[in-house]
Amino acid sequence: MDWKIDRWDKGGRKLAEQARWIDWDPERVAAYFGVNPSVGLNGDEAKERLKRAGYNRLAEGEKSSLFGLFIDQFKDFMVLVLLVATLISGLLGEYTDAIAIIAIVLLNAFLGFIQEVRAEKSLSALKKLSAPTAKVLRQGKWTRIDASLLVPGDVVALESGDRIPADLRLIKAESLYIEESALTGESVPVEKNSAPLPHADVSLGDRKNMGYMGTMVVRGNGTGIVVHTGMETEMGRIAHLIETTETMDTPLKRRLEQLGKILIIVALLLTALVVVTGILHGQDAYRMFLAGVSLAVAAIPEGLPAIVTIALALGVQRMIKRRAIVRKLPSVETLGCATVICSDKTGTLTQNKMFVTHIWTDQKLIQVTGSGYEPVGKFKLGKQEIDAAKEPALKQLLEISALCNNASLIKEKGAGVIKKRTVWKIDGDPTDGALIVTAGKAGITGETLKKEWVRVKEYPFDSERKMMSVLVRNKNGKQRLYAKGAPEILIGRCTHIYSKGKVVPLTREHKQTILKMNEQLAAMALRNLAFAYREVPQTTNLNKDWQIEQNLVFVGLAGMIDPPRGEVKEAIEVCRRAGIKTVMITGDHQTTAVAIASELGIKRPEGLTLSGQDLYNMSDEEFLRVANEVDVYARVSPEHKLRIVKALQKHGHVVAMTGDGVNDAPAIKAADIGIAMGVTGTDVSKEASSLILADDNFATIVSAVEEGRNIYDNIRKFISYLLASNVGEILIMFLAMLFGFPLPLVPIQILWVNLVTDGLPAMALGVDPAEDNTMERAPRNSRESVFARGVGWKIVTRGLLIGFCSLAAFWVTYAEFPDDLVKAQTVAFATLVLSQLIYVFDCRSQGTIFQRNPFDNPALVLAVLSSVALLLAVIYYRPLGPVFHTVPLGLREWILVTVTSTLPVIVAGLFDVMRPRNWHLKRIANS
Ligand code: ATP
Repeated sequence: MDWKIDRWDKGGRKLAEQARWIDWDPERVAAYFGVNPSVGLNGDEAKERLKRAGYNRLAEGEKSSLFGLFIDQFKDFMVLVLLVATLISGLLGEYTDAIAIIAIVLLNAFLGFIQEVRAEKSLSALKKLSAPTAKVLRQGKWTRIDASLLVPGDVVALESGDRIPADLRLIKAESLYIEESALTGESVPVEKNSAPLPHADVSLGDRKNMGYMGTMVVRGNGTGIVVHTGMETEMGRIAHLIETTETMDTPLKRRLEQLGKILIIVALLLTALVVVTGILHGQDAYRMFLAGVSLAVAAIPEGLPAIVTIALALGVQRMIKRRAIVRKLPSVETLGCATVICSDKTGTLTQNKMFVTHIWTDQKLIQVTGSGYEPVGKFKLGKQEIDAAKEPALKQLLEISALCNNASLIKEKGAGVIKKRTVWKIDGDPTDGALIVTAGKAGITGETLKKEWVRVKEYPFDSERKMMSVLVRNKNGKQRLYAKGAPEILIGRCTHIYSKGKVVPLTREHKQTILKMNEQLAAMALRNLAFAYREVPQTTNLNKDWQIEQNLVFVGLAGMIDPPRGEVKEAIEVCRRAGIKTVMITGDHQTTAVAIASELGIKRPEGLTLSGQDLYNMSDEEFLRVANEVDVYARVSPEHKLRIVKALQKHGHVVAMTGDGVNDAPAIKAADIGIAMGVTGTDVSKEASSLILADDNFATIVSAVEEGRNIYDNIRKFISYLLASNVGEILIMFLAMLFGFPLPLVPIQILWVNLVTDGLPAMALGVDPAEDNTMERAPRNSRESVFARGVGWKIVTRGLLIGFCSLAAFWVTYAEFPDDLVKAQTVAFATLVLSQLIYVFDCRSQGTIFQRNPFDNPALVLAVLSSVALLLAVIYYRPLGPVFHTVPLGLREWILVTVTSTLPVIVAGLFDVMRPRNWHLKRIANS
């Protein structure tokens, strides 16, 4: 084996060197890479090559180092000022203060650092989740592996919708079209083949027998041998030119950063005001300066963006548990605003486990029995069993089913409790799977038929064409085309019908009978396929599908059930209560779609149903007029989805749209929340999406919406907590200076409040469970401010009360013990801390503190208890007394502290409940 890794020199490879494979025939390429294209590499060889070639990944951009992240924490201007001020106080001999402040600043930085590391980790874990995979032939078996494990010489299969995982020399191509705009800028897909080119000296866009990493298969299928991986690929060569990272910034985060800037200015102004007022009232300038800087550090909500990222990331982890994978963080926010979910039917609302129950051929409606994928069952005409071998039309239909088919039936040994049983599985498209099982019930299998008929060419299925066909040839050179597809489409291509063993011209009456039967089956919620064939003379041009898929002989129809998923009906009801409309979009027949939509509660009696043809006939204005009333779209092509998204958006809707195919990508991209299918979705659709459903299930979208709403609520909760606390902190200092009181809090106490009281509980709010009414409210308006629905009100009322009450506690104690300022300061400190720790429970509800059980967030209870314990330690652990300027308090003081710290939420809560125009509570109740 003379395979070696080719290195390209940084100055640029010679063209001939780069393009060596393109004028070789496939056999030579395979030989060069030491691989048998029908067996693939073996595992050991692949491992060995992986060691030499490295992972098939593009090098990542520079990441900030851990040390860098830590240092970043000190880059905050106010923190620097504080450090300098502390240094000065240290030089002036105030060692305890200086050391304590520096310790707290360090701790604060450490906390910020941990938060950011966590945020970064969750983000990179998210990126990994959507890592690409590849279908590769190893030791004679096709398996799906992580694309980063591909090595030169691997044989890789490509299907419509795949993102090409490495640079490949194609050795087989069936109507293979690849969109290479990522490399060449040319957006028109290029038709590929496997033939060697006459010269190696051609540009990238003309290398018809190569597939390049990162480009997309938009039609057809093919196989290729990996020639370059990772940074050796063409994409690797330009990797530094392309932006590979997804945007992980969210509009809310950006808005909060802007808000943060305003808050910094406000906090600085207020702090300056406090300092100036204090000095004017005769306070010591140096002490006031230190207090001012500490206040500024405490009042500036610098941790807000990091906590938002953590809340988002934690929420995203919870979503993953509920099987929704977020690809673009901003969509988490948008999820909570969704007003319409447009869902595919097959596989999302239904199970995508199909079973043929009826076949109609030769004017006879035959029932098919059996259960599961086991190819055992009977064909019955009325009550009587029939022998498929003796019914020529039925036999012909089953043969088409078995040959015009890309799925395979797999027999496996059961595991666990069903160890003794055989398990039957389908590998491939469920529609094809259902047909193989049915043919198997008559003893007809692809394996036996393939001995007689060899597949020459496939005209692949796609949702646009709604049909597929294969050209087969026997030993005598006789050629036949076997086709299956949506009945109305296939009938349009038929000129004859197979009846009683003979082929006769297809009359108008025949067509009407077929369509009537199709309706009848569809009304039973069956998904129908039609079957046809033709003899193909050897002289026919095989390359044009529209030429060859004509003049067909109609054979019959098969109706299959695809039962709805159990949980979907309830999920749709949840959506209805949450003010979200569900719309079904399907390629399936209108009657089938309506039958299922009605069963699931999607179709309202007054709701409209539109077909792809209706959409085609309507002008944009006409469509816009009715778009809001449509519940079901049937027989639509993916291109219609884009029109639907745009019309709904024009109506002001925030649209979530699902899709799986290549052609769904534009609609997924245009939707506010583009959702791709994790199991059946193509790479192209996943790439365009912002959310991937790991289980393809509609109910998962609803869980994601709920989680999205909850994450946003939690972010609002800690904004409300942090800002109200800050208002309280500034106010107590400001009022004290205004009234000419001594300093109610010393700098170290202010910093402590900022670190302990604001830090732990705020983080615990990020994991607060959803309120009971989360899915009973109308969707949030996407332009709504974070302060809407009571948050602003709470910040102001609770903040003011916290400030007033803490000051009152200070003043009462100071008036009683004018000689014991430290005692009064300890009381003020304890009141401020406790009132914030009580207020944190008030933040958890959009209403008042009385509306939620305080114990249903254990993390918060723990955070609050530890903050209380730390407060007690600072007060009662005497060595800390001089550091934090505290003295032990007696029972009377504690009564005072408890009363004044409980008052804010109780008073404000009662006021909110009794207020005649408690507008925000009313709005919440109404919505
Ligand atoms: P949805 O759009 O909800 O996923 P769908 O699976 O019916 O529903 P498509 O996959 O676009 O939508 O299929 C459209 C039609 O094409 C089907 O109703 C069926 O008649 C036909 N069809 C589906 N799969 C195949 C196949 N493997 N071979 C031939 N025809 C098919």
